[in-house]
Amino acid sequence: MCRHLAYLGPPVTLAELLFDPPHSLVRQSWAPRDMRGGGTINADGFGVGWYPDDGAPVRYRRAQPIWSDPTIAQLAAVTGAAAVLAAVRSATVGMAVLDGAAAPFAEGRWLFSHNGVVSGWPDTVVPFAAELPVRDLLTLDAATDSALLWALVRHRLRAGADPATRSGRR
Ligand code: GLN
Repeated sequence: MCRHLAYLGPPVTLAELLFDPPHSLVRQSWAPRDMRGGGTINADGFGVGWYPDDGAPVRYRRAQPIWSDPTIAQLAAVTGAAAVLAAVRSATVGMAVLDGAAAPFAEGRWLFSHNGVVSGWPDTVVPFAAELPVRDLLTLDAATDSALLWALVRHRLRAGADPATRSGRR
């Protein structure tokens, strides 16, 4: 189980969101209270995406623990935003630990984060993956369930789907 942070409100620094609270995302990365039976700590990468005043979001992500990266601490101290999505990752057993496997996933104005595991991976998603353009499959951020789910969501967004509308398909 990964941990995620979403913020929409008055502008704040990334440090105020990621580092400063007593149970901040950074603290939760090494001392989570509840992992719901999946993993122990969130040491398999992290990412943060934020929306500047105008334009597409900026994203920074790494495959290392958030507490071991001095750059994010420096960046967070001087970066402010009014909309932020961040995550620390506990990789599902067997899934790659790469920069590209860390949320948030991004394209254009979209950021995406996913928690949990696709049971029966990869067989259960083969029929869904088969509906994606081959190019999308060849350029997945990583061979993980989250990256594939993002590719499926992104495919719908590109087609004009409203992200706030629930699909009837299961
Ligand atoms: N299954 C996903 C991954 O491996 C998400 C991890 C999680 O939620 N623990 O990246």
